[in-house]
Formats: sequence, C-alpha cells, structure tokens
Amino acid sequence: MGPTSLELCAGAGGQALGLERAISKEVRAFVLDRNGFTCQMCGAVAGEPHPYDQSRNTRLHIGHVIDKSLGGDDSATNLRALCSVCNEGAANFTLDRPSSMKLMIQIRRAKSTDQLEILQWLMDKYPEQSHKVTKLP
Ligand SMILES: [Zn+2]
Repeated sequence: MGPTSLELCAGAGGQALGLERAISKEVRAFVLDRNGFTCQMCGAVAGEPHPYDQSRNTRLHIGHVIDKSLGGDDSATNLRALCSVCNEGAANFTLDRPSSMKLMIQIRRAKSTDQLEILQWLMDKYPEQSHKVTKLP
C-alpha cells in the first residue's frame, strides 16, 4: 500500500491531532517517509493490520521524540511516526531498538516461511543492496 492511500489522522482525537495541525504537510510527509511509514515504537506498518491488534489497520501519527514539556521542539529531527495504538499509550513497548544480535536470534529461530517474509521485506526496503553480490572474506 502506497503512502497516497494513507488516512493520516482523520478523525483522530487527543493531543496528536492538535500537534499535527501545527506541523506542515511537508514536514509530516518528510518524517513519515524517513521512518519508512513504520511506527517507531512497535514497528507496525501504515495500512497493514496492526501486529498486536489484528482487528485494527495501522494508522500513523506524528509524535515528539522528546516531549515539548521536556524541551523538545516541532522540528523534523524531534518528530517520529507513531501508530494509533502506541500513540494512545495502549501498547507498552520498550523504546529501545532491538540490537542486531537479538534480531538475528529471533530470525534464526523463526519458521522458514517467516524468514522468507523478512527477506522479501528487506529486499523491498533495500532494492539496491539486495542486488549487490556481497562476498565475505
Ligand atoms: Zn506502534
């Protein structure tokens, strides 16, 4: 699903909407694109069923990295994509990004169909790199 079909924040209530009114369309588009249309807390992708609540389609909002009450500003560097679940605080995920070691452990234990799904996703995300033949020394 492409970004054009995103329903960004239409009808959403609460803080996020107020914030997003203050942020220009350009900055919003920039932040969403930079974040790969992926929630930066839980990894849910815009337009796809939410991984922790399959009954909901993921909708992305823009949130602050550092809250304004803590001195954060509205610049693109202090903004990130958050899904409605995380934005509502409904999900209680850690903010830490998983390390590559932890990811590899999970991926190695996964079913091969899941591994292939990850491979496909990575190839779509990194088309140039996926075509390069890399040989380990
Ligand atoms: Zn999320």
